[in-house]
Amino acid sequence: MKTLILRGHHILCSRLFSGHGYNDQFAVRMGEVVARTGLKNYKPPVSYELAEQVKLICSNDYVCSKCPNLIENQTESRCDLGDDDVKEKDRKTLKYAELKENNIYTLEEIAEGVEKITEEQFNEICGTCRWFKAGLCSYEKLRNGGK
Ligand code: SF4
Repeated sequence: MKTLILRGHHILCSRLFSGHGYNDQFAVRMGEVVARTGLKNYKPPVSYELAEQVKLICSNDYVCSKCPNLIENQTESRCDLGDDDVKEKDRKTLKYAELKENNIYTLEEIAEGVEKITEEQFNEICGTCRWFKAGLCSYEKLRNGGK
């Protein structure tokens, strides 16, 4: 797949990924996305084809499909951790990065968008996340390419 479909806030998560996830499958999938987007210097145990572009959405994406918190059946598809909160993260990320839902961007354009996000905006987007509270994600790390 050359076009990755990612929900808005995952362009931040992929930059800050440190190997942690809701379970092993989720962590492996996020590692794949990180490797394919090159948003962070990360070497996964296997090599993946680099994505050429990313379509941004505000709903469940390629990463969510491996998440144990995804509730998906014939009548609904939502995040059990709080669907509205997660979608709000997506919308804020896209707004502050000056990117638009349902548009397709090059990896360079995505990286440029991430650069536009201020510390205050990042804290507003990520402040409620468990990985932020655990100290695994921070604005400083975002600016340092996830290190
Ligand atoms: S704090 Fe949470 S939402 Fe924000 S980048 Fe880290 S994992 Fe993603």
